[in-house]
Amino acid sequence: MEVRTRFAPSPTGFLHVGGARTALFNYLYAKAKGGKFILRIEDTDRERSTEESFHIILQSIKWLGMNWDEGPGVGGEYGPYTQSERLDIYKKYTDQLLAENKAYRCFCTSEELEAKKKQAEAMGIPYIYDGMYANLTDKEIEEKLQQGLPFAVRFRNPNKDLIVEDEIQGKVKFDTKLIGDFIIVKSDGFPSYNYAVVIDDYLMKISHVIRGVGHLSNTPRQVIIGEAFGFPIPKWAHVSEIVGSDGKKLSKRAGATSILAFKDLGYQSEALVNYMALLGWTNADGREYLPGELESVFDIARCSKSPAMFDVFKKMSAEEKDAVDFNKLKPLELAEYMNPKSKLNWISNKYIRDTDIQILAKELIPFIQDNPKIPADFKNPTNPILISILDSIRVYLDRLSQAPGYVEEFFVDKLEFENDDAKNMANDGKGKDVILAFKNQLIEKKPTKAEEFKEAMNQAGIATGEKGKNLFMPIRSATTGKLHGLELPVLFELLGVDKILQRIQATMQL
Ligand code: GLU
Repeated sequence: MEVRTRFAPSPTGFLHVGGARTALFNYLYAKAKGGKFILRIEDTDRERSTEESFHIILQSIKWLGMNWDEGPGVGGEYGPYTQSERLDIYKKYTDQLLAENKAYRCFCTSEELEAKKKQAEAMGIPYIYDGMYANLTDKEIEEKLQQGLPFAVRFRNPNKDLIVEDEIQGKVKFDTKLIGDFIIVKSDGFPSYNYAVVIDDYLMKISHVIRGVGHLSNTPRQVIIGEAFGFPIPKWAHVSEIVGSDGKKLSKRAGATSILAFKDLGYQSEALVNYMALLGWTNADGREYLPGELESVFDIARCSKSPAMFDVFKKMSAEEKDAVDFNKLKPLELAEYMNPKSKLNWISNKYIRDTDIQILAKELIPFIQDNPKIPADFKNPTNPILISILDSIRVYLDRLSQAPGYVEEFFVDKLEFENDDAKNMANDGKGKDVILAFKNQLIEKKPTKAEEFKEAMNQAGIATGEKGKNLFMPIRSATTGKLHGLELPVLFELLGVDKILQRIQATMQL
């Protein structure tokens, strides 16, 4: 049997990490098994579905490199792949269920249903539809239809015990009596999610349904509908919940962060994909950095039931969780909420270090394009100086949006101290001695290589009796105006003695 998986987003918001991880597992499983990955748009919720969300979701999936084999824009044998374009198909199946008495029309008004729900609530019992319209005669139905009364279609629940065999969660027992006769076609004529999904999964020959564990409770509904039609039931794989750095449910805001925000932050899509693959899956040999390998090694058999920790954002207090809307923040503001020690950063740094430098230079351009501190000539990915700067700073980067701060260090023509601490560092008695000793070394030895600059710093240390921080902080401050930054010998090699001397000259007068 060919493996055919699908990602079936509802276009009601951004593609966030939960959705992207689901898409990814479907994509990777199909690739690993030589199968097909299908994209289907589930837009039957007319009020919440938007065109804008549809485009953002597609753009996000494309950016992540998960090219779908069938779906919107690509076509395929089993289209259309957008549910709102498949109403005729669902209608045909609904007619069949009605004719076979496996479903019936329910003429309850929403007020009636609301009142019954309230009553159940007041009595402290779960609400189950009472089957009020389950047994109307043909004549009664005809009369109501004649009167033009609106109706929904309900599925006649076989009320049975059911065991769902889940590839990840194992055997899960359900009692469908607790669900009652549920709505499969809403009064606006649109199918409910649980209904359309079954027909589409069947017609699109989906072999494996891989989705978030939140959908496990929908599975019994989907199974009994499938059984009523006599459809083969797909294999189920419900992937674990994603929790935040605090081990608790992802906050609404953090959980809703658009995948494209990670693009704006300068994460490469391959790094993000690698990180997301590890949210609930482990490779057989335990390795986590898997460039170019995921599509062959991924398997749902190695997915875990335990919650997966999304450690990209810092632990936040309950107030903080509610106060900020991550989708309204600019990349640099969002960066403030990030956990610097996240696994994503660890993986991303490795990707940045291993990316072909010419490609990385191209990827860097959008992040320096509008930076006024970097001269226009250097905003060219083929500029050899830009390439060597990038090559020397990439070890420090967790994401490309951090690069400008480092790149700027090479282009300062008017040096300023970032704060008083930096100024004092370069100006207090001992600091000044260190800087003068270093300056003498530069004039005397004319170092050119990083190693030689390191030696010049050591010699300045010997001459003044200073070492460690007391040695390199004044030098850093006098040559960059800052207290933190690149490894100095690396910076010095790229700047050259003349520029360093000019900088020292300038800071001594500030
Ligand atoms: N449209 C559903 C969602 O957005 C898809 C659920 C499923 O994969 O069956 O969650």
